[in-house]
Amino acid sequence: MAERHERFFDSSKLKCYLECPRQFYWRHVRHLVPFHEKTALSFGTAIHEGLFTWHKTYDIEESVDAFHRHWNDTMHEELRTAEKGEKLLRGYAERYPPKMEPFEFEMLEQKVQIDIDGIQYGGRIDGIVRWGGMNLVLDHKTASRMGRTYFDRFRPDLQMTGYAFMAKQLLQKPIHGVVINVLYFTKTKMDFIREISSREPFEYEEFVSVVMRLVDEILSNDWENRNSWMPNWTSCGNWGGCDYRDLCLCEDPEKLVPTMYRHEEWHPFDDEEGRIIVG
Ligand code: SF4
Repeated sequence: MAERHERFFDSSKLKCYLECPRQFYWRHVRHLVPFHEKTALSFGTAIHEGLFTWHKTYDIEESVDAFHRHWNDTMHEELRTAEKGEKLLRGYAERYPPKMEPFEFEMLEQKVQIDIDGIQYGGRIDGIVRWGGMNLVLDHKTASRMGRTYFDRFRPDLQMTGYAFMAKQLLQKPIHGVVINVLYFTKTKMDFIREISSREPFEYEEFVSVVMRLVDEILSNDWENRNSWMPNWTSCGNWGGCDYRDLCLCEDPEKLVPTMYRHEEWHPFDDEEGRIIVG
């Protein structure tokens, strides 16, 4: 890995290592991604683009256009369709018309990069809002399943605490937590649910310590010469199956690589446009 990128981390990269070091090897050392991206991810990305445009312009037609420009339906699922995306955005705009929002934006979606003891840590924050005397990060989620404990997954959570910590460093103000802004949908229903996931000062200290420990472990690995692994088999079936399952199930995975994967490095922060660097 080139030195500049080697010292750049985000929650996705660190979570990948935490979930399974072998998965980290395939994705962040070998830079392999499957030819077919998972639909859930690209649908969620297109909805994010629609929401960004909505909050920027409060023009629903522009918001729907932004969704269509980013939606690339490669899997032709019944649940995630162009029609469903459009309905969700129109439903959201009806549920939260501009003058009825309970919060005010301090910052709209922004890429942020901060320095943590010589490590660059970054992420894309959907928004920072002021709500009832609290400073909160806003994070959009699309969900097609929501059990009783759905919101528990966001605390403790590296990604959400990381966003809140970056917002704190950026604004130099206390950040009290994260608004989880859910667009829920099934084939026949949709709903819009918001819940605040709060953060205490000790959670920020813990976040910094966890990031530094993980980065130390990652950088001290001899990835290129490693020939044995402690796989995390509990992660193999998560989120519709790990992208590298076929490789791990093959006695000679190198044979499969060119037929199933393309080379794409993980540099979400190379595009400098609109990025705020702190520290
Ligand atoms: S299939 Fe399982 S063991 Fe292999 S990289 Fe994925 S999570 Fe790790």
